[in-house]
Amino acid sequence: MVKIIIIGGGAGGLELATDLGDKLGKSNQAEVTLIDKNTYHIWKPLLHEVATGILNEQADKIDYAEQGQQHHFQFIQGTFTNLNREEKHVIIENSNIESISVPYDTLVVAIGSTSNDFGTPGVKEHCIFLDDQNAAIRLRETLITKFASFCSIIDEHETTTEDKIRIAIVGGGATGVELASELPHMVETFGNCGRNKMCSDLLDVSIIEATDRILPALPEKTALNITNTLQKRGIHVLTKTMITKAESNGFYPKEGDIISADIMIWTAGVKAPDYLKDIAGLESSRSNQLVVKPTLQTTRDDNIFVIGDCAYAMQDSGRASPATAQAAHQMAKICYENIINMLNNKPMKLFKYTDNGTIISLHDTAQGVVKIAGKGEMKVKGFFALMIHRLLYRMHQASLLGIVKTIRFVKASKEVYKNKFASIFTHQG
Ligand SMILES: Cc1cc2nc3c(=O)[nH]c(=O)nc-3n(C[C@H](O)[C@H](O)[C@H](O)COP(=O)(O)OP(=O)(O)OC[C@H]3O[C@@H](n4cnc5c(N)ncnc54)[C@H](O)[C@@H]3O)c2cc1C
Repeated sequence: MVKIIIIGGGAGGLELATDLGDKLGKSNQAEVTLIDKNTYHIWKPLLHEVATGILNEQADKIDYAEQGQQHHFQFIQGTFTNLNREEKHVIIENSNIESISVPYDTLVVAIGSTSNDFGTPGVKEHCIFLDDQNAAIRLRETLITKFASFCSIIDEHETTTEDKIRIAIVGGGATGVELASELPHMVETFGNCGRNKMCSDLLDVSIIEATDRILPALPEKTALNITNTLQKRGIHVLTKTMITKAESNGFYPKEGDIISADIMIWTAGVKAPDYLKDIAGLESSRSNQLVVKPTLQTTRDDNIFVIGDCAYAMQDSGRASPATAQAAHQMAKICYENIINMLNNKPMKLFKYTDNGTIISLHDTAQGVVKIAGKGEMKVKGFFALMIHRLLYRMHQASLLGIVKTIRFVKASKEVYKNKFASIFTHQG
């Protein structure tokens, strides 16, 4: 039986494994296997909500093994470390086994991206990155610990304007902006849990951006509106501020004084993991992504497909498709069709990225643009925009779980969230 291996169960890979399992695994036309370093999936665009406790990863996770049972694919937990193209196998490692080789006939690489520190000294050592659910959970724990110890200090003293937790986020893209927007609300929730002095006024959040404005993917006016909203909420937006070094007490800009910070977060860009660069002689981009043809097969090996953030797919515009969940989803759909076409000796489909717009969530509101084919661009904001933003996530969930299970998920995540922070503080005594 044909062996199809998909590495990475993220925005693109899990949708692909589910579709291929339903189509080929169920009818025994192929053995479909998903490999991921984690045991469960959380949609990456919501990691800032995991980090701030808005989304409960226990209620919203999808277990790979369970998903595989229901959709006819196997799951192997392990970290992909290497590839042997001659013998057609991948090398996987995890804590229980030293390393195993898993054979394939068709391989799909969908391992996403990691933060790019652009070689800035001190960033790796002192900053928190929002790369996966484990990092998001670690960030949440860091925030909770900082808030709790801060509360115990200010409970004993009269509060002064100096009593602030300083959080500096480098990178004014969607990740940095959405994370900054949630932070004040996390603090308000703590305040309601018996820590009376803890309120969002005691939080000093800065977004630091090297270029002259945040959110380059959005029209200038929309980005300006969002900047105003952030500033009204007390969040500093520092543009034209290039960070050249990080130390334990803050960021050093190219010009001006140190930007002091108690918690330092880096969301300034992404790249594919370093080990992907030229792996097994495949062609790669400057950001380590594997270069693919319009069919999403690598330029040097037709048996290897690449989708999502780690794929470098050049578009007619002369630019590669962006590293977004939108692109990963669209690639998963084309890759699904092309794997089936390849098995049936049918012509391949070509991937053309369609930009459907960008919406930025700002906790209780959202702003952005929606693009409709042939009709141009529509600016959206407020509750309507927030609903579209939430709907995108629920659509992703529905494509994996079906409508009925998605509705159950929505109900469950609401219940758990209600009691969440109360229980954190009860356990901490
Ligand atoms: C906070 C935040 C907000 C965002 N907001 C948006 C948004 O609003 N809209 C949008 O379109 N995009 C958004 N993005 C970007 C989007 O999340 C990514 O572009 C998208 O998830 C990429 O999908 P993917 O399938 O390529 O990779 P991922 O979804 O990152 O999945 C990669 C998978 O590979 C696994 N993996 C990684 N390395 C290995 C390995 N060595 N071995 C085994 N498994 C491995 C990981 O565990 C993961 O499950 C946001 C990202 C972040 C962090």
